[in-house]
Parts: sequence; structure tokens; C-alpha cells
Amino acid sequence: MQAQILNLLLDLQEQMGIAFVFISHDLGVVEHIAHRVAVMYLGRIVELAPCEALFAKPVHPYTEALIAAAPIPDPTRVRLEVPIEGEVPSPIDPPSGCAFHPRCPLAVQRCRIEVPPLVLMADGRVVACHVRAPATEFAAQPPVAADASFMRT
Ligand code: SF4
Repeated sequence: MQAQILNLLLDLQEQMGIAFVFISHDLGVVEHIAHRVAVMYLGRIVELAPCEALFAKPVHPYTEALIAAAPIPDPTRVRLEVPIEGEVPSPIDPPSGCAFHPRCPLAVQRCRIEVPPLVLMADGRVVACHVRAPATEFAAQPPVAADASFMRT
């Protein structure tokens, strides 16, 4: 039933030239249906990239851990172990700085203090991470509006 609905959405998109914002925790479905993916943590976009690029080479540590934890229906594909430790903090009282810092294996002191900006990377994706996408090494961009056209899937 789920596959039929997803395929119906894809058919509608092709026939009518419309866009969808599709929200899901099921990465297998996201990979199947999306052209572009915005990964969010505690209400903020932490990485936005074309679907194929995101699944092939996630940059943000949270994206990396999510993809590593997803089931792979292909026994020949090797899964990387990228565990996330700790509990999800309360969205009404998020941690200071980068909200992912209490659970991030790459966290440095700056992560506890400063919210990382979304930074445009050389391959066109945007990432919010002081370590993986430091604003000093790339052209810093203004915060990306989380509007429907930007999050088109
Ligand atoms: S900004 Fe720091 S805590 Fe946040 S994802 Fe990057 S390395 Fe981890």
C-alpha cells in the first residue's frame, strides 16, 4: 500500500510538474522519492543536498549516523558503524551552540557555544557544522530559509 501511494505521488509529480514537501523518518522511502533532501535536527536544517549525493557521502555527523543506522536491503553493501549516543534533548530547551553537540563524536569547544551557520560547500550542498563545514574555509551564506521551494522534493 505504501509503495502504491509513493508511486502515485511520483506519477502525479511527473504528469503535473508539481513539487512535494515529503516529511519522513524512513530513509529508504526518502531515498526512493526525493530529489533533494533536507536533514533536520531539533527543528533546524543541518544538511541539504541532492538525494544521491547525500546518501552516497553524508557530510554532517548527524546525517552520517542516520544513514549508517538505516537498514540496507542489499547484503553486498557494507554499513559503516557511526553510533549516536545519548538521548534526544527537549526541543523546548535545546542545548547551547550546536544542538547536536552532546551526542556528536566530533564536538569541539566551539560547538558548545556557537550555533553553526549553514555553509555552502564546493559540491553545492549546504551543511551546518563547525568541523565538517567550517565557515572560514568556505563562502559563508546567509541562513537558508526553510521555505517550500527550497525544500522541494
Ligand atoms: S557543529 Fe560540532 S557538535 Fe555540531 S555536528 Fe558539527 S562537530 Fe558535531
